[in-house]
Amino acid sequence: MDLPAGVDRRDTRPGGYSVAIVGAGFSGIAMGVQLARLGIPFTVYERRSEIGGVWSINTYPDVRVDTLSASYEYSFEKKYPWTEYFARQSEVRAYLDHVARKHGVYEHIVFDAEVTSARFDDVEKTWTLTVTEAKQSPTTVVANVVVAASGLFATPRELPVEGAAEFSGQIVHTTEWNDSIDYAGKNVAIIGNGSTGVQLLSKVASEAASVTVYQRTPQWISPRARYGEAISEELQWLFQAMPFYWNWNKYIAGFASNDLRELLIADEQWIADGGDVNKRNDAMREMLVEYIRNQVNDREDLIEKLVPDYPPMTRRPVVDNQWYASLTRDNVELVTTPIERLSFRRADLRRRRA
Ligand SMILES: Cc1cc2nc3c(=O)[nH]c(=O)nc-3n(C[C@H](O)[C@H](O)[C@H](O)COP(=O)(O)OP(=O)(O)OC[C@H]3O[C@@H](n4cnc5c(N)ncnc54)[C@H](O)[C@@H]3O)c2cc1C
Repeated sequence: MDLPAGVDRRDTRPGGYSVAIVGAGFSGIAMGVQLARLGIPFTVYERRSEIGGVWSINTYPDVRVDTLSASYEYSFEKKYPWTEYFARQSEVRAYLDHVARKHGVYEHIVFDAEVTSARFDDVEKTWTLTVTEAKQSPTTVVANVVVAASGLFATPRELPVEGAAEFSGQIVHTTEWNDSIDYAGKNVAIIGNGSTGVQLLSKVASEAASVTVYQRTPQWISPRARYGEAISEELQWLFQAMPFYWNWNKYIAGFASNDLRELLIADEQWIADGGDVNKRNDAMREMLVEYIRNQVNDREDLIEKLVPDYPPMTRRPVVDNQWYASLTRDNVELVTTPIERLSFRRADLRRRRA
């Protein structure tokens, strides 16, 4: 690759200069691509045996991006033949694999290698990392720069609920999902209504005997056009055959979110006149409340629990994957009282089945 314009071509690095990147997810791969481009030696340490970060870790039912595929790609690797408007996990994982191989990052990754400590030597101006590779004793590695690309969501949080350790049913965090998990005909509890819990429910509810959904804080959960839809062959053809059509498509994909900031700017006059935030935000709130109402068939008991008491867009918006509609199923119950402890009582299950 050519160096970007304006980059000083003189190599002023000290001898043996190297960069250690921790993690081979979206961030670590992007860093690797840029270092490869600049000719700077680097090694990526990844504790898993594959690349992809959250896109290799999460394989729970219906996992996919909730931002358009066309906008969830690197600026240096666009025009990827996504098959769905909102790509599934396996497709994002394949995209990352493609990028890592194409841009010469793959061969710099050490898999099954966990970085357990990083210490900076102020005299030598170097980092010493402790790296534990699978079934081997820890080794130390020296690097001039460490890039922490270890992600926010790659390590599951243990369920902080009393009784979890003694619970005789199966507890699974969504990051630990695997094919052996069989929920068909079972009584399932889903704790959480963030992006993951909301993606998961409809699939699980369609096969489980019962699902109890535990919600601590209501979310603004909204529909997305073309969510779950395949990109048609005609459109795929246009991307490949019509010059720059894909670029236009990408621009449009990002355009909608460009002016979302406006939704968050308080309009003092509007508030003084009895509004909540500003005209657009309040209109969005009304639209979303109407959406909830329609999805739950006007059930007041649910509406009361589901409508947040804070304005839309003040938290990351969650995309609806038939979550509201699933709450109206006979085998689904929404619980909003806090979880006190976890126990497994057969009598409870019998009562529910009756
Ligand atoms: C289910 C899900 C859906 C998402 N959907 C979207 C979306 O639609 N749009 C969006 O913008 N964002 C989305 N996100 C946010 C997502 O986290 C980021 O977009 C991005 O993929 C994060 O990449 P990352 O490389 O920073 O971290 P990660 O993907 O978490 O990668 C970190 C890597 O570091 C490794 N690692 C961690 N610690 C160590 C260590 N000590 N030693 C060695 N290796 C280590 C991990 O094994 C992992 O492979 C989603 C997240 C999840 C979980």
